[in-house]
Amino acid sequence: MSEQTGATAPKGIWVFIEQTDGRIADVSLELVGRARELADPLGHEVVGLLCGHGAEGLAQDVIARGADRVLVADHPELAAYRTLPYARVAIAQARARRPEIFLVGATPNGRDLAPRVASALRCGLTADCTDLQIGDHHIRRDDRTVRNLLFQIRPAFGGNLIATIVNPDTRPQMATVREGVMRMPAADPGRTGIVERVTPAFEPGDFALEVLSRQTRHSTVKLKDATVVVAGGAGISDPATFDALRELANVLGGEVGASRAAVDAGFIERDHQVGQTGTTVRPRLYIAAGISGAVQHRAGMDQSSKIIAINTDPHAPMFQIAHYRIVGDAAKVVPMMIKALRERSADQASVWATDDGEGEGDDVVQGASR
Ligand code: FAD
Repeated sequence: MSEQTGATAPKGIWVFIEQTDGRIADVSLELVGRARELADPLGHEVVGLLCGHGAEGLAQDVIARGADRVLVADHPELAAYRTLPYARVAIAQARARRPEIFLVGATPNGRDLAPRVASALRCGLTADCTDLQIGDHHIRRDDRTVRNLLFQIRPAFGGNLIATIVNPDTRPQMATVREGVMRMPAADPGRTGIVERVTPAFEPGDFALEVLSRQTRHSTVKLKDATVVVAGGAGISDPATFDALRELANVLGGEVGASRAAVDAGFIERDHQVGQTGTTVRPRLYIAAGISGAVQHRAGMDQSSKIIAINTDPHAPMFQIAHYRIVGDAAKVVPMMIKALRERSADQASVWATDDGEGEGDDVVQGASR
């Protein structure tokens, strides 16, 4: 398909605004913020697609975060997420209005909706992007350059390389992004935009599935917004040391994180996993104890302001991104840290967590375990 121009050209960066019981998923607002950044240089509108029943009041928050327009599909059948009715609305609106880009949060519902929409629209879909950029792409085969494509960036082949995926031929360019990967934009309550009601045109088959009841389990782990995360990996070989990590997190007023290896070993529940298939965190302080620093783990924490790595292996990849490197046995180093912190005043201890990230250190503490 060749590039289109003028009135027929696809236009706008869309974000699916996921809401449950009148609360918008953080990832949707994070995507609105990123869409705004991508849209401005291109002169595109940012459009939120909000489905629900009695949820129109949420549209103003979407505008406050950067949207120019919110399409609101309000219907009793859209009160709770169901694949077919939601997909019906998204597909019909995208067919009629032809967005250039369509972003969806990689939540369980978003992962369900996005492929169905992409399949119906016969366009591509890149799941779990860790970055989105706009750029030009030269297609060698046809010797043509397509301008202003969405670069859909994500780890590939088990995280051994970072792939940039483009979709030059079909529209919209669709991508899903996990919660926490993009920054949450600040709300500007004075921002104005258009709230436009759209009427769903359902078909009888859309209601094949009836929701009889819903049970929601809220995680008590608040990793995403923690200012301090103390994480343990496979190098923490006994439960007592993991308990010490919990204590260290407690002393610093932080949360406990983990690598997948630690979760798989049964040291801690899956809710605590940081990384590509876990939570993405950006704390002021991240302590990685006994974590090698595989790319899948780093994808979830490398935006931390300060990183302290504790590892017996001086060549561990985690040390490449750490600001402070402690070469030593975590089973000995972590209790020493707790003791040192306890001996200081609470104010001094919190300096670690409130540092603004300037003047990054490059310290190596050799043989801290001795
Ligand atoms: P290891 O790689 O085994 O490293 C243990 C480290 O501990 C080593 O560096 C070792 O030197 C050190 N060590 C040993 N003893 C001590 C000691 N006494 N004191 C201090 N240090 C010590 N992983 C994630 O974490 N999160 C994800 O979201 C994730 N998603 C994935 C998705 C895919 C598709 C794939 C293929 C993999 C994913 N992984 C993920 C797994 C990832 O590739 C690594 O296997 C995992 O991160 C390794 O965890 P680890 O660093 O704890 O263990």
